[in-house]
Amino acid sequence: MKKHNFSAGPSILPREVIEKTAQAVLDFNNSGLSVLEISHRSKGFEAVLAEAVSLFKELLNIPEGYSVLFLGGGASLQFCMVPFNFFETKAAYLNTGVWAAKAMKEAKGFGETIEVASSKGANYTFIPKDYVIPTDADYFHITTNNTIYGTELHTDIDSPIPLIADMSSDIFSRPIDVSKYALIYGGAQKNLAPAGVAFVIVKDELLGKVSRYIPTMLNYKTHIAEGSMFNTPPVLPIYSALETLRLLKANGGLVEMQKKNIYKAELLYNAIDNSRIFVGTAVKEDRSLMNVCFVMKPEYQALEADFLKFAQERGMDGIKGHRSVGGFRASIYNAMPVESVQALIDCMNEFEKQI
Ligand SMILES: *Cc1c(COP(=O)(O)O)cnc(C)c1O
Repeated sequence: MKKHNFSAGPSILPREVIEKTAQAVLDFNNSGLSVLEISHRSKGFEAVLAEAVSLFKELLNIPEGYSVLFLGGGASLQFCMVPFNFFETKAAYLNTGVWAAKAMKEAKGFGETIEVASSKGANYTFIPKDYVIPTDADYFHITTNNTIYGTELHTDIDSPIPLIADMSSDIFSRPIDVSKYALIYGGAQKNLAPAGVAFVIVKDELLGKVSRYIPTMLNYKTHIAEGSMFNTPPVLPIYSALETLRLLKANGGLVEMQKKNIYKAELLYNAIDNSRIFVGTAVKEDRSLMNVCFVMKPEYQALEADFLKFAQERGMDGIKGHRSVGGFRASIYNAMPVESVQALIDCMNEFEKQI
């Protein structure tokens, strides 16, 4: 049976990326050696890293003056690396979900941390809009896509202070205006590569302004100076990331990617909106193009387990919603083919017909 992978993370990667990675594990560039067993400072691997950085800059149209880093520790390590490098007197955070709250928690350990706005009271079903960013804070932190709740900020906002964004689950899903950000970070395992590497895009001139000692490994300057090679970087996920980036470029870059993502998400949201039994959880204007969250209408709630089983039997994998939302979540990242989205819709319709 064909499997349709709706997992939230780690999640679907293009088949081609998996095959090319498997090939490099067996024999890297016809060298007779595996990418797993060569030095990260070998010419071969240095070329991989250099091309990955250069494709990051090209695809995201990153202006001069920014560095691209590949680091271990996932997005979660960035939750503390950000305050280590940017927090001097106070920081401001937008609380749009569990990941945003976790990032904010780390800042609190450094001092005064302002929650500028929060949608927690509404179980994070929307992204707050009417708020004022304090101009005396060192930075303003946002989470552009809230993976668990299926909400997404669809524009690059203006901020009077350095803007820092966790883009773990929507990086490369649309073109972004990097010049509006001081720093963008994310774990690779949603839209880019297997787990094990985080990416950081940082504006160089904003670093070096805090007065504290920053541990060497947590200092962005260390990694900029050494081109992500201060210590051994996660070589295999970086290799896969390179293959994903090559494929993105070959398929028309982020403008094309965004079109496909809008098309796929509309297909699924329309099916949910036209359904007698399912209903979306996020406020319409903030709906994520990456994570589609829906539940059963109250009168059908008892059928949730039945639908999960029904869907699983038809090859739908990973659609159980996060425990804090319940219901279902279909993660339809870049690599998700429209055929799989259609298969899920067919499955929903089929289930609806028989009840
Ligand atoms: C998955 C996710 C994280 C956590 O990433 P790790 O690499 O596991 O630390 C953080 N933020 C967002 C928005 C995520 O989706």
